[in-house]
Amino acid sequence: MSRSAHPAGPRHGDVLPEGHYLAPPSDLNALDPKVWSHTVARDADGVVTVGGATVTALAAEFGTPAYVLDEADFRARARAWRQAFGAGADVYYAGKAFLSKAVVRWLHEEGLSLDVCSPGELAVALAGGMPPARIALHGNNKSAAELEQAVKAGVGHIVVDSAQEIDRLAAIAAGQGVRQPVLIRVTVGVEAHTHEFIATAHEDQKFGFSLAQGAAAQAVAQVLGHHEALELRGLHSHIGSQIFDTAGFEVAARRVVGLLAEIRDEHGVELPEIDLGGGLGIAYTSEDDPREPAEIATALAEIVRRECAAQRLRAPRLSVEPGRAIVGPTAFTLYQVGTVKPLAGLRTYVSVDGGMSDNIRTALYDAAYSVALVSRRSQAEPMLVRVVGKHCESGDIVVKDAFLPGDLTPGDLIAVPATGAYCRSMASNYNHALRPPVLAVADGAARVIVRRETEEDLLRLDVG
Ligand SMILES: *Cc1c(COP(=O)(O)O)cnc(C)c1O
Repeated sequence: MSRSAHPAGPRHGDVLPEGHYLAPPSDLNALDPKVWSHTVARDADGVVTVGGATVTALAAEFGTPAYVLDEADFRARARAWRQAFGAGADVYYAGKAFLSKAVVRWLHEEGLSLDVCSPGELAVALAGGMPPARIALHGNNKSAAELEQAVKAGVGHIVVDSAQEIDRLAAIAAGQGVRQPVLIRVTVGVEAHTHEFIATAHEDQKFGFSLAQGAAAQAVAQVLGHHEALELRGLHSHIGSQIFDTAGFEVAARRVVGLLAEIRDEHGVELPEIDLGGGLGIAYTSEDDPREPAEIATALAEIVRRECAAQRLRAPRLSVEPGRAIVGPTAFTLYQVGTVKPLAGLRTYVSVDGGMSDNIRTALYDAAYSVALVSRRSQAEPMLVRVVGKHCESGDIVVKDAFLPGDLTPGDLIAVPATGAYCRSMASNYNHALRPPVLAVADGAARVIVRRETEEDLLRLDVG
C-alpha cells in the first residue's frame, strides 16, 4: 500500500491496499512492539499481560469483547508529542479518534489541547475538564445552535469551513458580545495516498475553502470584514490520514505559507498561527513503518521555518492534530473465539464474539490488522485465517488475512492490536449489538472508563 503524498492529480480514487502477510511470521507467539502497546508482554505461562494485568483475568472480570487501553502508553505517547513540538507549538489531540472523560483528563494532565467536531464531543471535552480555551471546534456544517453553544462555552478556536458559517458565527459572536478567534480551513490540493474516503485535501471534497479556486482568499476577506466579532488567528490544513512521510505536509505548508504572504500583501496583516492538521500513520501490521513524533516535529518546524523565510514572514505558531498516532497503538480489542471453520484450499474462518460493530474499519476502508492468540502460547503450525464477527453480513470481517496457530479452538482469547483509534468511536449497534467497554489498565489494575452497553440501554431509546 503506497502512502506517499503528492499534489492531487485528476484521478486518485481506486487506491486499494495490496495483500498483507503473504508469508507466516517466523514466531506466532512474538508480539511485535511496533504494533502492540508498550507494556504488552507474555508471562511465564504464555498469557499476554498489559499494564501488569493478564488478558485471562480481564476477560474473566469484564467479559469479551472489550477494548483494552494501556494508560501508561497513552500518556507516554501524548507526552512524546507534546515534548517533540515544545513550547512554541500546540498539540491538539483529535477527539474523534477516541474520546472519553478519562482520556480528556490524561490529555489535560500531559499538557495537550483538544479538537472536537460535534456537540457530543464538546460535551465530553468539557465534562472531562479540558479548559475551553484549549479546545478547537471543527466541522463542515456546524449549526447555529452548535456555534452558539461553542462561543458561549468559550472555545479557543473555531475552524470555519464555509461562507455561510462565517456570517452565522459573526452574528452569534456579536450577539454574545464576544470576539471569537477563528482559523480558516484551507483545501490545499494535496492528496495523501490512502483510501479515498479518508484522503481529505484534494480539491473535490466537502471540507474547507479551495486555495486554487480563490475561495480561501475570499474567506480571509470575509472574516476580516467581520473584524468586530471575529479575530482571524490563522490558517488550517488537514491533508488526510494514515500518512507515513512528510512530503505531503511540505507541499501543504508551502501553499498555506504562500497564502499567509498574500494576506500580508493584500491586507497588511501577518497572521500568527498555522495548523497543519493530523493524519500521521501508525503500524497496524509489522509492514508499516511510522515516524517518531520527534522526527515529524523537526521536519515540520524546518519546513515552516524555510517557507516563511522564503516569504520574509515571521514564523507563525504551529499546531498539529494527531489522533490515531496517539491513541491508535495504545489499545487492543480482546475477543473470545466462538467457532473455527476450515475451508479446504482457501483459509480458516475464525468467528469472534464481536465484529463490524466494534471495528468497522476493515469493511469501510479495507484496513489491514494483525491478530494474535493471547490466552496461551502455542507451538502449532501457522494456519491462514480470516477473523470474522457474528453479524448478519458476509462483509463482517475484522482481520482479512493473518496467521494464527493451527490448534486454535473455541474459548481461546485472541486480540487485535492497534484498535485504539476509530474503533470504539465508530462502533455501532448493528444487529442490536451491545458496544464493548473500554478498560484502562495501569500498574496491574484495570478499570472501566466506558462501560459495556446493556439491553436496557437499547430499550431505553426504543420508546415503543
Ligand atoms: C481526523 C482529523 C484529524 C486526526 O486525524 P488522525 O488521522 O487521527 O491523526 C486531525 N484534524 C482534523 C481536522 C481531522 O479531521
